[in-house]
Amino acid sequence: MKTVLITGANKSIGFETARQLLQQGYYVYLGSRDLQKGQQAVSQLQAEGLTQVESIGIDVNDLNSIKAARNILGQKTAVLDVLINNAGISGGVTGPLEMDISEFRQVFDTNFFGVIDVTQAFIDLLKQSPEPRIVNVTSGLGSLTLQSDPSWIYYGITPAAYVPSKAALNAYTITLAHHLRETPFKVNAVDPGYTDTDFNHHSGPGTVPDAAARVVKAAIFGPDGPTGQFFSDDNAPETGISPW
Ligand code: NAP
Repeated sequence: MKTVLITGANKSIGFETARQLLQQGYYVYLGSRDLQKGQQAVSQLQAEGLTQVESIGIDVNDLNSIKAARNILGQKTAVLDVLINNAGISGGVTGPLEMDISEFRQVFDTNFFGVIDVTQAFIDLLKQSPEPRIVNVTSGLGSLTLQSDPSWIYYGITPAAYVPSKAALNAYTITLAHHLRETPFKVNAVDPGYTDTDFNHHSGPGTVPDAAARVVKAAIFGPDGPTGQFFSDDNAPETGISPW
């Protein structure tokens, strides 16, 4: 049975990703920074008959929490097949000249540095898998090409810290995929689309199941699947591959 760790999986896209991977037969380590919320999420899934799941405490802003999660997971399994770096925050919509630097740092800590810390902490377990997969949940807003295109539907939607944090995450995805290019790893960035969740006070038109399905697709790529790509059904309906 393949194993997957999903950060920020106690609700919304991360939770639904857990549900869909459980339905596909994966064993899910459901990451949550709040243990109680994580346990509630697990109970909900178990009540649906999806039992191959357990919660694991992991705050991506806290290296001690990440290391503790790695140790706990290492006692449960020698192999991690899939890592989904889903946890993310939006930060405010203040402009780039007005936003306090502490807010920039907070958003980068979660969306960028947190992903690096988690990836580095779990890479040894991922390397034990014959088909390891890393999915970085990004945003279409992190595309520098689209952000500079006045004809793009979301042109001008520029939350000051979020946009550069996801652009940096995209760049990390490229460098990581390149570093692992001669291995069985597939490392990709996935934009789940503008989705109806707490993240945007439920303003998004997309559904959580559709968003999670996009993430799941990259989590289950076979040996011939792509690596080092930026998938976005919203921004590239024909190819599914977004410009960086
Ligand atoms: P959400 O409803 O706000 O859920 C975010 C999840 O991340 C929650 O479980 C939250 O935990 C967790 N989280 C936040 N900070 C964390 C930390 N430091 N450590 C561990 N977990 C943390 O957001 P969502 O809409 O599901 O978004 C999921 C991902 O999709 C994010 O990376 C986001 O950038 C991306 N995305 C979303 C949209 C959209 O329209 N929704 C569009 C593009 C990309 P708590 O419950 O404890 O807060």
